[in-house]
Amino acid sequence: KNCYRMVILGSTKVGKSAIVSRFLYGKFDEEYTPTIEDFHRKLYSIKGDVYQLDILDTSGNHPFPAMRRLSILTGDVFILVFSLDNRESFQEVQRLKRQIFETKSLLKNKTKENVDVPLVICGNKVDREVYREVQREEIEQLVAGDDQCAYFEISAKKNSNVDQMFQQLFKLAKLP
Ligand code: GDP
Ligand code: MG
Repeated sequence: KNCYRMVILGSTKVGKSAIVSRFLYGKFDEEYTPTIEDFHRKLYSIKGDVYQLDILDTSGNHPFPAMRRLSILTGDVFILVFSLDNRESFQEVQRLKRQIFETKSLLKNKTKENVDVPLVICGNKVDREVYREVQREEIEQLVAGDDQCAYFEISAKKNSNVDQMFQQLFKLAKLP
């Protein structure tokens, strides 16, 4: 397989678009621009083979639940983002993780325990440490015992841990 679909999900304003922009373009914008749905394509050439990575940056609002279901169905790898200064956004990540595993296990006709979905959970805005609402220990419980899943505390603004997070995701997804 030479074509992979990465889907970024999470509440609004947690920094999904900022993470993508940091990763792909090395840029950060203080100003907020609402996303409806953005699509980025990156082509890699490795040892003469061309690989295509499609990144789907979604809206946090879901006026169209079918749109979200479709993005989960068609995604190969997932980044679930919350903001460390917003507890509600952490709860949304827990719901999303559940929905992804339910959808994928139905799709692949496996149990939720046996379905493998490469997924990284990101606590963004770690630069706003003083406003932290979610403690590291409770987040780590969400990924404990799940070797398809990793957790990173990152800052798109300060460019901290963003590349490490993507590298880990590539590794989990066995992307070249
Ligand atoms: P999205 O709705 O999840 O795509 O969120 P955006 O990427 O549009 O970001 C929402 C707001 O948070 C924007 O004003 C960003 O500048 C800001 N933001 C994003 N990432 C960070 C971060 O790591 N630290 C801080 N302090 N602000 C951030
Ligand atoms: Mg956005």
